[in-house]
Amino acid sequence: MSKMNPYEMFLKQVDEAAPFLKVEQEFIDILKEPKEVLEITIPLRLDDGTVKVVKGWRSHHNNALGPYKGGVRYHSNVCKEEVMALSAWMSIKCATAMLPYGGGKGGIRIAPRELSQGELERLSRGFALGISRFMGTDVDIPAPDVYTTPQIMSWFVDTYEKVKGWSEPSCYTGKPLELGGSLGRGDATARGGMYVLREALKDMGLLGKPLTATIQGYGNAGSFAHALYDQIGIKVVGASDSKGGTYNPKGLDYADLMKHKRASGTVSDYPGGEKVSTDQILEAPVDILIPAALEGVVNEANAAKVKAKIVLELANGPTTPEADVILHENGTLVIPDVLANSGGVTVSCFEWIQGRTGDFWSEKTVHEKLDERLTQAFGEIWKIKKEHNIRMRQATYVRAMGRIISGMRFRGIWP
Ligand code: NAD
Repeated sequence: MSKMNPYEMFLKQVDEAAPFLKVEQEFIDILKEPKEVLEITIPLRLDDGTVKVVKGWRSHHNNALGPYKGGVRYHSNVCKEEVMALSAWMSIKCATAMLPYGGGKGGIRIAPRELSQGELERLSRGFALGISRFMGTDVDIPAPDVYTTPQIMSWFVDTYEKVKGWSEPSCYTGKPLELGGSLGRGDATARGGMYVLREALKDMGLLGKPLTATIQGYGNAGSFAHALYDQIGIKVVGASDSKGGTYNPKGLDYADLMKHKRASGTVSDYPGGEKVSTDQILEAPVDILIPAALEGVVNEANAAKVKAKIVLELANGPTTPEADVILHENGTLVIPDVLANSGGVTVSCFEWIQGRTGDFWSEKTVHEKLDERLTQAFGEIWKIKKEHNIRMRQATYVRAMGRIISGMRFRGIWP
């Protein structure tokens, strides 16, 4: 792991991009602080009648370009600094995807798999109630993240609307279709990553060549990457989740592996592959490594052992700043999280637009609009990367910070 916490990682990433922007230091200083962070305590009534006191946060990082936007994470390691970092990365990500949003994020420190369905509902409603005065369609629009689902978004929306006394479908995104969700939201994060990866492969002269990949984290983002990426010639040979991994150099069959995961709750022990550790997945001899779980998994200790020529960051913050440099020096291209996984928030934005207008789009339209937006973002970032001969993360931050700072400049610093 890095010695830095996730927020310190963000500060370092800002400092590494700042010299390439000709802007006043005061704007950089503003970007380095979240605007406000709400900390709440939820008394959760458990099924056995006792009460568990649970902590949660919602961080508003920057709203120069529009309302705060970002998911809510349920995990036993969630802390204030992590939520702050994730909200700051959302500011960068929304500016990267050219969305009319700033950055926000929420989290609850809980192991959700230890809760019954009733406990999960009471916890989710408690959180939605706690942050209800801090959010709204034009204020802050939460969405799913690790271990949060369309069902949880439904409880969030229902609680919020009951508190307010009116219908407001675009106050959350990632909802089921019946409650105003968007077609194409389920696989949007992985799909956006595919469009960006396709553009990188094109430029590197690799598109159309047979390529292999491993995926660390086989949840929403990771499993959809497995489902989709054979469209661009990528064979997934390894995958892992919190319980372990599986590897087969001949390739893993998506439908069969999903069947095994649904039945057993994990990809580990899959009969079609050899049992391996998450470290073996990260260090496997493949063309592309796709981290799709949590922060800091590629770090000083293991970066030199990564053999992949491309790291596609579907997770947020999987590569520490130290590892980013080591990978670059070893000739590995890191496609940073704020671009690689921005498909999720982009389709969330499409959901927000559709909910506000009542005009719902076909899945084909969603895919086309997503492709167009991310292909444009990739092209602009690639140009900056080449112009300055810098890492792709730096180039992405240069462009995104430039957009946010431009917004702040037009607004002026007030009060
Ligand atoms: P998820 O809860 O659906 O899946 C997370 C997966 O990671 C699970 O399979 C879990 O078992 C696995 N995991 C946890 N610890 C692990 C470990 N130590 N080793 C290997 N696997 C481990 O979550 P998700 O929505 O797919 O999110 C995954 C990552 O993608 C997060 O960093 C999230 O912030 C990011 N992300 C998600 C979205 C989205 O739309 N879902 C959008 C942008 C970014």
